[in-house]
Amino acid sequence: MLPSHIQSLIIDMDGVIWRADVPIGNLAAIFDRIRARGLKFVFATNNSTKTSSQYVARLTELGVDAEPWQVVTSSQAAAHAMAQKFPPGTKVFMIGEDGLRIPLEERGFEILSTEDAPRAQAVVMGLDRDVNFQKAVEAALLVRRGIPFYATNPDKTFPTPRGLIPGAGAWYSIVTTATGVEPIVAGKPFPFLMDLSMEKLGTRNDETLVIGDRLDTDIAAGQGVGCPTALVLTGVSTREQAEGWAPKIDFIAEDLATLIG
Ligand SMILES: [Mg+2]
Repeated sequence: MLPSHIQSLIIDMDGVIWRADVPIGNLAAIFDRIRARGLKFVFATNNSTKTSSQYVARLTELGVDAEPWQVVTSSQAAAHAMAQKFPPGTKVFMIGEDGLRIPLEERGFEILSTEDAPRAQAVVMGLDRDVNFQKAVEAALLVRRGIPFYATNPDKTFPTPRGLIPGAGAWYSIVTTATGVEPIVAGKPFPFLMDLSMEKLGTRNDETLVIGDRLDTDIAAGQGVGCPTALVLTGVSTREQAEGWAPKIDFIAEDLATLIG
């Protein structure tokens, strides 16, 4: 049972509400209870390729009512971080998919083609299933010139039915290796995705519970911004690992249904 000072939830998706696309528990019933308790919630994911609307469609199929504002991605967090530094109209060279393009356009950035990349004032990389040699060349040349370098998320791998494939972190390491420059990373465990989630929820950090299945991303991100944290044991990290984690995790639960009570 969650304490009454918790007003809102930031919920990871993979390993918390589904695993390899299979729902974990009766999601419709779980989210009915969350609403009945008056808790606000957003889903926060390091995935950079999908848009909020694509996630909402999947959630609806599983019986979870959510609006696009309630899905916060690492691509939105990257656009948010960039908008704190650059005005609308800033020319951006992007390596990524619609999940990244749309939030950048919503912030008013001008997305350049690969041919126009040398005019960019900022570079941002996410997972791009059409990545190619020339895109990596342009990104590396820009970063070498000192153009600010952002990335959506640090995940070295991405789960697929066939196994783990290279994630955004693996792809941006090409530019990092070639330039010696590390990007500013928006996703968990860094603070930008959490900050944007709290901005959308309109709640303070001490009343916002961060729920995830991974210690080194979800829990570290929540603790990094001063939120209480809950680990569920339906994904990557184990109870033994959680009990050895410092600082201490506020809640460890078998699954989301048990946590909500
Ligand atoms: Mg997860």
